[in-house]
Amino acid sequence: MTYPVKSLFLSSGACAWGKCLFCGYGRIHGKNPTVERLKREFDSFFSMLNGEKWVKVFISGSWLDDKQIPEEARRYFISMCMKNGVKKLTVESRPEFITNERLNEFRGVDFEIAIGLEIANDKILERIDKGFAVADFESAARKVQAAGGLVRTYLLVNLPFIRDMETELDKSVDYALRYSDSVVLINLLPHSNCPLFDMWLRGEWNFLSREEFSRVVEKWKGKPRIELDIETFRFIPKFPGEIRENLTGVGENFLTHPHFEVWQDYLVRWYNPQKGIVLFLPCSHKKPYSESETHQGIIARVDKLGLRGRIHEVMLSNAGIVPREFENFYPFNAYDWDELQETEEIKRRYIEVTSRRIENYLKTHGYEKVLCFLRYDSESYRALEMACNSLRIKLINLLSKKTYNKIKDKKRPLQSVEALSDLEMGLKNEAMQV
Ligand code: SF4
Repeated sequence: MTYPVKSLFLSSGACAWGKCLFCGYGRIHGKNPTVERLKREFDSFFSMLNGEKWVKVFISGSWLDDKQIPEEARRYFISMCMKNGVKKLTVESRPEFITNERLNEFRGVDFEIAIGLEIANDKILERIDKGFAVADFESAARKVQAAGGLVRTYLLVNLPFIRDMETELDKSVDYALRYSDSVVLINLLPHSNCPLFDMWLRGEWNFLSREEFSRVVEKWKGKPRIELDIETFRFIPKFPGEIRENLTGVGENFLTHPHFEVWQDYLVRWYNPQKGIVLFLPCSHKKPYSESETHQGIIARVDKLGLRGRIHEVMLSNAGIVPREFENFYPFNAYDWDELQETEEIKRRYIEVTSRRIENYLKTHGYEKVLCFLRYDSESYRALEMACNSLRIKLINLLSKKTYNKIKDKKRPLQSVEALSDLEMGLKNEAMQV
């Protein structure tokens, strides 16, 4: 039976294990798990119920672990479920906390325990540091079902260390279905703050795009008792402070640094930008770019025409392609490339790398119109021109050649009134009617 659902995301203590290779949540130390605080939080949650009969609790760890949720608080929560007419309760737990005694607490409410099995293969479970074996899952699942509860099993698609993903998944799904009432196939995406994130940076593992994931799990689409979860959290590469680097410099390392490369891959294989018109812009020494004088001039013109948010502003830099909405994310707000230190060789590499990045980006995202506001003799313009030629896309530089020839010797030509007037005029002609 399905009911309207309300979810509670609880921050309470920490996962007792906290070591799974792919999990950042389990490494978070949440709020102090006192009974009084939890009761207050539960009261507030139930006061917001609006007829929902199914409650799901997400806790990053184990609901049944006394250190995360003391027994008194758990019992209080279940009594509140009954008082508020909740018909079904779903919680998460590791197998070692699933005991007959604790399962008794659910008396009076239909319950479901979600267990992250991830894969039905002991060798891989050991390599991903899961901290339990398939037999532990099996025994816990049997206990839940014997106590009248439902078992919901999470399996991860695309774990590292697997030679034959298809065979491994087939085996795991068949196995999980034997002991579960429902199975969720989850697209494994990199949490920050976990070893898998480092493996991603080192190129030892990569996430599946939505399309790749859909192809892998195609055969289970619409199958009874199986659900597919393509994006369990809003995936944006977030680099924890301790692995951030000083990215000041000019040279190959500051062009194809792994921290830039994973972002460029993300922007092509995961990111879904707004469609319509793209406006490529230069980067700036000042970060975030929008605080620089050049960008303030550009933004003022875009704003004046009411085009902010209607055209997609994307910067070109040695860090790669940088959509405006990510300009203040590391590493885009933390690098510095001094043009004065450029050699002819690094300029050539810049054009080569940047045109490849732009080509991949434009090929995937299919904007209706490609505009730019760039100096004609800049490497970014040359790279953009090369990419557009190769894709047979018409590129319109809103800075006219005539104006550029007049202002090119100025210290910051794109800040000049003439250049910005071109931008405004160009936007009126090329962007206002679309
Ligand atoms: S996956 Fe679950 S058990 Fe593993 S660390 Fe994360 S919260 Fe803990």
